[in-house]
Amino acid sequence: MEPRVVISARGEDRIAAGHLWVYRSDVVEAQASGGDVVALVGSRRRLLGRALYSDRSQIAVRLLVHGDRRVDPAFWRARIEAAVRFREGLTIDATAYRLVHGEGDLLPSLVVDRYGDHLVLQSLSQGVEKALPEIIRALTELVAPAGILARNDAKVRALEGLPQEVAVLHGDVPSAIPVREGPVEYEVDPWKGQKTGLFLDQRENREAAAAYARGRLLDGFSYHGGFAMRLARTCDEAVAVDISAEAVARIEANVRRNRLANVRAVEANVFDELRRLEREGERFDTIVLDPPAFAKNKAAVERATAGYREINLRALRLLSPGGCLITCSCSYHVDEAAFAQILYEAAADAGVHAGVVEKRMQGRDHPVLLGVPETYYLKCFIVRRIE
Ligand code: SAH
Repeated sequence: MEPRVVISARGEDRIAAGHLWVYRSDVVEAQASGGDVVALVGSRRRLLGRALYSDRSQIAVRLLVHGDRRVDPAFWRARIEAAVRFREGLTIDATAYRLVHGEGDLLPSLVVDRYGDHLVLQSLSQGVEKALPEIIRALTELVAPAGILARNDAKVRALEGLPQEVAVLHGDVPSAIPVREGPVEYEVDPWKGQKTGLFLDQRENREAAAAYARGRLLDGFSYHGGFAMRLARTCDEAVAVDISAEAVARIEANVRRNRLANVRAVEANVFDELRRLEREGERFDTIVLDPPAFAKNKAAVERATAGYREINLRALRLLSPGGCLITCSCSYHVDEAAFAQILYEAAADAGVHAGVVEKRMQGRDHPVLLGVPETYYLKCFIVRRIE
């Protein structure tokens, strides 16, 4: 008999509203093992669709299809093909980008990034883990990669009872892959870099920010120098700040690789560095703030808000009138309206007049799924200090 999961009316409402997840508290009955593709059944025993089931996570159900459609190898291939074709139509001027963005591509808990001829995959649920043979087959047929690496060391896997591991699933994957993003070249280590190697979600924001960059640039939370290297071309001087010695070494190597004579990397805590620069009376014409998610959960929102406010307030003070602040938050729990409020309060506290020039989000290769607010996580505001 087909594995099946019966959900409550509340769970059914969620699915009807466009969400793909049903929490364990809304599971009424489960005749299934972890990782199964299940028939999803609502009240009055109606078949709602087919979904991935997890016997560990609070997210017990992830919807794949509505109604009585089959989930077979052809299903996986068609979904992955749609994701791949969508990226082909974006005319992305880069050799590294996201090919599959989980829920945003109706492939819940599956992430696939492309780095040149190689793919880096994250399998983030029991269901995707079990479907990996079909997924790998579809990817090799559609993209013909030289290798596929599983970066399965993401913490969320623990919630699924899945092991932390990094392993080659297909072909070979080197520890240094050269990629290009617009005019910038990087060397990426898909085995050890943060996320799958690069912060691909910021590619289009780096591009957009370049239009405003001039004079002296400060790139706060720089990682491998992404913003600094893209923006330095139109600036006199760029300072890239990161707290990690490893990141700073990467920035220096990337700067040499791109033959940029005007970028300097500094190992420092951005909070301290902003205060120090203010004390010394320094000024910048362009400032980027791209911190890690300060709020990883709801309980952390208050502290995170204070953190965002502090760095934005100091950056606005350091900015020369007419200069631009490119400021980001990748905390899902601080939504766009909350982030806008933080920026408004920061400007008021800094005693400056500032205006929003652009409101941006994660790049188009990281699509948001309406009905799943969790897929909209990255906010990027470009703010001009007027006076
Ligand atoms: N802007 C980058 C991505 C930044 S990721 C890009 O476009 O690719 C966030 C970075 O912030 C990480 O490299 C991390 O090492 C760094 N970081 C975290 N806390 C920090 C702090 N308090 N001060 C400086 N850097 C910090």
